[in-house]
Amino acid sequence: MSKVKKQAKVLFVSSEVYPFAKSGGLADVSFGLPKAMSDLFDISIIMPLYGSIDKKRFKIRQVEQFDIYLGKKKYAVELFTTSHEGIKCYFIESNILSNKKNLYGTPQNGYKDNDLRFGLFCKAVVAFVKQKNSYDLLHLNDWQSALCATFVKEDEAIRAKTLFTIHNLSYQGIFEKSTLEKLGISENYFHMDALEFHGNINFMKAGIAHADAITTVSPNYANEIIAPEFGCGLEGFLQKHQNKFTGILNGIDLSHFSPSTDKALVQNYDAKSYDKKAENKKAFLKERGLENSALPLFVFIGRFTWQKGVDLLIDALGQLDDLKLNIAVLGEGEASYHKQMKAVTAKSKNINIEFGYDESLSHKMYASADFLLMPSLFEPCGLNQLISMSYGTLPIVSSVGGLKDSVYPIDEYDSALTHGFGLTFEANEPNALIKTIQSALELYEDKKRLKEINIHNMGCDFSWNESGKIYAALYSSLVER
Ligand code: ADP
Repeated sequence: MSKVKKQAKVLFVSSEVYPFAKSGGLADVSFGLPKAMSDLFDISIIMPLYGSIDKKRFKIRQVEQFDIYLGKKKYAVELFTTSHEGIKCYFIESNILSNKKNLYGTPQNGYKDNDLRFGLFCKAVVAFVKQKNSYDLLHLNDWQSALCATFVKEDEAIRAKTLFTIHNLSYQGIFEKSTLEKLGISENYFHMDALEFHGNINFMKAGIAHADAITTVSPNYANEIIAPEFGCGLEGFLQKHQNKFTGILNGIDLSHFSPSTDKALVQNYDAKSYDKKAENKKAFLKERGLENSALPLFVFIGRFTWQKGVDLLIDALGQLDDLKLNIAVLGEGEASYHKQMKAVTAKSKNINIEFGYDESLSHKMYASADFLLMPSLFEPCGLNQLISMSYGTLPIVSSVGGLKDSVYPIDEYDSALTHGFGLTFEANEPNALIKTIQSALELYEDKKRLKEINIHNMGCDFSWNESGKIYAALYSSLVER
């Protein structure tokens, strides 16, 4: 990379960043990608300072205070900062943004004032950028930071370009029309080529309409969302902006997800010492009260939502009586799923469910499992399958979105290839998940083949190396425009 590119100053804007606040993959990407870009660009991160973030632990200190106007109302905003693993991180604190228990709301409903909360966040970010007057590029992520694209576009004094990444099109940030006035956004944006969406305001549309470039998190999802089945009503709008839209597969940060260094594990291992992985399974089964350690262990880790195929999972759990396997589930989400899960677990000694969010337990599960279940009905990229392959755990995935781009069917296994393999199925075929679990049980008997494929997967590169190069080229092309 040339010196010019190295000097380019980038601000990565996200509503969640690991390790400060995480509800899912967005947080992993929002630290992993900037970190991967930091050799080539002068990149910092900015996010909301939620009340749940431990300022002391992360040595987060206040830098300055300023006021932001949303419509006619004045909000006091404070800017905080810290450095994490060499990356400069900024935080926006303001009462409405920071005084809630969760990031966005409950699994059932988003907070009622999310329009104000994230409208304020975007306004404060853009005010910060304008004041610094040194940023070349703002990389925006999902609807919570999408309005920055509109605010940058309408202020001629800001020269920064904007890149908008769609991590999940099904969350768009849709609010009543009155939000326009509340945020002081001009009525001129209330039309179908800008923020208007069936009489409402759609924050995601701001990013799509006004950013200089758009990416999503896998090439296959980029194709899927320009068609009605996965387009969530925005397929036509995305088609209109297709000339600035590409799909780039997410990676994982190997300093956070690596079985050879992971502090959460009972026993570290790598591809060469693969057999040591079994120590983790032994300890995990004991800890979770799963009795027969000779049986294969299947795990599911994720949000309990329709998207993640939780209905298929619950259906399969209910039919497993005769099968010889252990299943451990970690997650939280919709109350009805919690209830159904409790009901199926009560019937079986071989199922263990932990409700909640637990980073350390999730790492233990990736390391302990024989198989990872990921029966998603749609999946923009998915990180679990990348993590599981890095930990030598075979993924069982539906063939959608980024899962299709990252997990190749095991029938096509060829050790000379550099991509990962797993068991794949079509989610809409009846009993597809249960049939694939049966295939996994057969494969489990062929220990030599299973081990060979898992070791092959561990040798594949699921880091940001490759996708980082594509992002770097895109960043450079945007700042040089
Ligand atoms: P999402 O759609 O939720 O963003 P991804 O597959 O992109 O799904 O990323 C999920 C990330 O969140 C992974 O790092 C996964 O391990 C983690 N995760 C999901 N649910 C939990 C949980 N209940 N406890 C701990 N980690 C979780």
